[in-house]
Amino acid sequence: MNSQIAPDQINAAGHLTIGGVDSLELAKEYGTPLVVYDVAQIRRQIRAFKKVFEQRQVDYAVSYASKAFAAIAMYQVVAHEGGHVDVVSAGELYTAIKANFPMENVSFHGNNKSRAELEMAVDHHVGMIVIDNFHEIELLNEVLASRDQSIDVMIRITPGISAHTNKYIQTGQVDSKFGFDLQSGQADEALQKILASPRMHMKGLHAHIGSQIFELNGFQMAAAKLVEIAAHWRDEFGYEPEIVNVGGGFGIRYVSADHPLKPEDFVAAIIETIKEETQKLNLKMPAVWIEPGRSIAGPAGYNLYTVGSRKDVPGLLPYVMIDGGMGDNIRPALYEAEYETVLAADPQAENAETVRLAGKYCESGDILSQHQPLPKTKPGDVLAMLDTGAYGYAMASNYNRNPRPAVVFAENGQAHLVIERESLDDLVHLDRSYSQA
Ligand SMILES: *Cc1c(COP(=O)(O)O)cnc(C)c1O
Repeated sequence: MNSQIAPDQINAAGHLTIGGVDSLELAKEYGTPLVVYDVAQIRRQIRAFKKVFEQRQVDYAVSYASKAFAAIAMYQVVAHEGGHVDVVSAGELYTAIKANFPMENVSFHGNNKSRAELEMAVDHHVGMIVIDNFHEIELLNEVLASRDQSIDVMIRITPGISAHTNKYIQTGQVDSKFGFDLQSGQADEALQKILASPRMHMKGLHAHIGSQIFELNGFQMAAAKLVEIAAHWRDEFGYEPEIVNVGGGFGIRYVSADHPLKPEDFVAAIIETIKEETQKLNLKMPAVWIEPGRSIAGPAGYNLYTVGSRKDVPGLLPYVMIDGGMGDNIRPALYEAEYETVLAADPQAENAETVRLAGKYCESGDILSQHQPLPKTKPGDVLAMLDTGAYGYAMASNYNRNPRPAVVFAENGQAHLVIERESLDDLVHLDRSYSQA
């Protein structure tokens, strides 16, 4: 039996349930491929993060990095749980606006925010702009001046710490496109420019060292570095940050070989580091902000697929073909991400073979799993891939002009369609015909 499936997720018929809803019923009602979220799991993780701060009486914000999965319904759930959100584009901000998300709890990130995006953020009074570069300081100053407005800002720095994770998703090393460099004095220069601007209210500093990180060490080093900079800014410029934002990146378990700490345990250790370091350097304890994306959305998500054709080659692992693939989950093709998959009708069934789960897209690399033990399957069987909630649907594409799947939120035995399946008409609705002479 797959150890990620809790006993209470199996109903009397022996089927996998998600949010108390039978996964085979979901597949029947909404079709496959289908993305399903267990909403209670999303709430549990946000609450677990909040509790860590509340137990320690530390001011905080749990700011969901919405790029992991952005949808009106998701912003509504986060708002209901008292979370903040990070957005990185006009599109994510627009979705949050449509969800009536409280704008004061929105942080705007990005290494190349456009003037139009900054205008939109200022016009909607977002709570925080996380400043990434000098060009942005100038643009934001112009936008604020044109509207005679002011706004809270943070400075993103590159802490020079490389987390031990997949090289494609490191962002904290010195050679990164994100944030101000420390050694060359760019972060200090940015601080002085912002302090000199009457329209920007400098609130604190930010670092995000990467994603799917398992080692505590990198987070603790980054947290200590942020406090060290805070002390340096106080000593050099008389400015003491109110907020230290340590970003996200808390690793989650995808396969049985993964043994991460609980996401909230990473955060507890980070808070302790910040406490110790601020005491050492005689700073007051700042508010601590975190930006978990994957750890909130990932474990709550399931992708349901239907088995179709099969290819057996003597001496090689069989290919079991499913009705989705890289268009709804690019992560295996993009960075060899791994997942576990179970038979929805019987997640406890004995495995009979190890197969490759192949998608239906015209790319040899469209393999969602290279070695998945499964019971013998037949066409029409429904498979449930686990922990697909982060960077799955969010990175979905229409490659091969396949429609993107529907998304369902399931909670307390009830299913709610929160994103409709794309139709064939949706696929051509931006196309215009080309009339030739
Ligand atoms: C992507 C990102 C996050 C979230 O990372 P996860 O690995 O999903 O937790 C947080 N902060 C920033 C600035 C990011 O770019």
